[in-house]
Amino acid sequence: MQTQPIVMALTKGRILEEVMPLLEQAGIHLLEDVSKSRKLIFDTNLPGLRIMIVRGSDVPTYVEFGSADLGVVGKDLLMEYGEGAFYEPLDLGIARCRLMTAAPVGARPPRGRVRVASKFVNIARRYFAEQGLQTDIIKLNGALELAPSMGLADWIVDIVDSGNTLRANGLEPLELIADISSRIIVNKAAMKIKHAELSELLAGIGLAVSARQAETATV
Ligand code: AMP
Repeated sequence: MQTQPIVMALTKGRILEEVMPLLEQAGIHLLEDVSKSRKLIFDTNLPGLRIMIVRGSDVPTYVEFGSADLGVVGKDLLMEYGEGAFYEPLDLGIARCRLMTAAPVGARPPRGRVRVASKFVNIARRYFAEQGLQTDIIKLNGALELAPSMGLADWIVDIVDSGNTLRANGLEPLELIADISSRIIVNKAAMKIKHAELSELLAGIGLAVSARQAETATV
């Protein structure tokens, strides 16, 4: 019996740019230039593999419900979604950044409950509960850095790479919540049904990741 093609969910932007060289190294080529197309599903040179393009925060949803067999997603979005629904066999080591708390430069710790604005409300709630800190978590979808100066929040929980965005908005990083990089997640049922095909694909990408890491270690 022939199995259905494997569907891999990816995200446009930084993840796609950094994943493509790894896929190429694993012998996988897209038959079209994703950046120049408005299509959302693409064939590859492997008849058994298709690539779909979705928002990062939707990758876990597509993979959990099996519309995609596997996907590439930042650990931040994965932690926010909840990690139990998938296998997470591979850290690709790309799109690295840090998830941090941040506050206005030099600000004193607020007295009483701390108001925290974030896109990552589940992570923030968990983190501060573990710290035993009383917080009110406020959900924002973007421009978090404005929240303290506009009086909406005392602190934010956000992604930090160079730290320039924080600095430009009068904020400074406080505590590291997690080091972030992109991970491969796999649907649990697909891992059983398409075990041979997925294992081969994951092994190829795993080798490409190791080769890339060995290359950067010697530079
Ligand atoms: P930076 O100014 O270099 O610290 O970058 C911080 C901003 O860039 C954050 O607010 C994020 O929106 C975005 N960013 C940087 N790196 C990543 C990443 N790996 N994944 C998602 N967003 C990122």
